[in-house]
Amino acid sequence: MSRFWSDLVHDLEPYVPGEQPRMSDLVKLNTNENPFAPSPHVLDAIHAEASETLRLYPDPQATALREALAAYHDVRLEQVFVGNGSDEVLAHAFAALLKHDAPLLFPDITYSFYPVYCRLFGIAYETVPLDDAMRIRISDYRRRAGGIILANPNAPTGIALSRQEITALLDEHPNLPVVIDEAYVDFGAETAVPLAASHPNLLVVHTMSKSRSLAGLRVGYAIGDAALIEALTRVKDSFNSYPLGRPAQAGAIAALEDEAYFQQSRTFVINSRERLMQGLAGLGFEVLPSSANFVFARHPARGGDELAAALRQHAVLVRHFPAPRIFDYLRITVGTDMQTDRLITALSSALIPETTAP
Ligand SMILES: *Cc1c(COP(=O)(O)O)cnc(C)c1O
Repeated sequence: MSRFWSDLVHDLEPYVPGEQPRMSDLVKLNTNENPFAPSPHVLDAIHAEASETLRLYPDPQATALREALAAYHDVRLEQVFVGNGSDEVLAHAFAALLKHDAPLLFPDITYSFYPVYCRLFGIAYETVPLDDAMRIRISDYRRRAGGIILANPNAPTGIALSRQEITALLDEHPNLPVVIDEAYVDFGAETAVPLAASHPNLLVVHTMSKSRSLAGLRVGYAIGDAALIEALTRVKDSFNSYPLGRPAQAGAIAALEDEAYFQQSRTFVINSRERLMQGLAGLGFEVLPSSANFVFARHPARGGDELAAALRQHAVLVRHFPAPRIFDYLRITVGTDMQTDRLITALSSALIPETTAP
């Protein structure tokens, strides 16, 4: 704290990202990174940008990348916005579309960055409890609101809504901006992007951090009606005109070009998720159904904080959230089969004292 701080900074409660420690032989299953390298085609494209041209600013509109995304998702160029990771795209969406007199609605259990943006931008919000099965029930959103934001699949539960449910939500709230954060959609959920053509209130946000193994490059994007995209662009151009550098723009285009690699990598993650879920079930965990690259699980006899600490002793990192309804849960990223084996072995030894106690 310092007397030089603004009142705004005094009152902030920043988001706490999963830790990125430097430990040797670490099994890092705490931040939903992809266990596979990016496509070699992406690395080539980035290397090619490490040249004399770095002295020049990048294209502030990232037109080539937006064109590639428009073609990939079968939408028009004016329907695509790109940013420095989807966290930045989301921040612009909060400022541009989600600040109104009536409260913004989102689930009580969801991406914990949403309330952080609300405090930064002074946005009134209300949380809507998930049901007892930890699912989003769209009928619970029939109340006074200035906007709605949902992660689909939701995080950290991993549970997805169907496109039919998203359509119903959009139809029930034609006068509200509805943002669907699809950070994990490629791991088994249905994207809402095709609904953008018929629903001018829909903004869909994607990231290349998870399914494209590019968390370190910082590329996220949004798709929606041109008027919504224009709102994001107005905020972006009031904040930072060049959010994506040349290597990021080139690497992201190359990622879209290597469809075979993308399909192979996401299929592998989906299959490994099944293996991880079976391993956890074998140890007595209750595992929520997951459409993401992580699972959310709890053990009937042991606390989440206790298990996370025990795993840390074995250099296995998972995420634990010290929040009321989910205190018993662990969020575990789907890793390679070798990482899953290390996790399961560490968990079984962590569980032994309980099972052998008299
Ligand atoms: C990871 C994540 C993001 C942010 O991803 P970026 O790396 O900033 O693109 C956004 N929303 C959810 C729900 C996430 O889990």
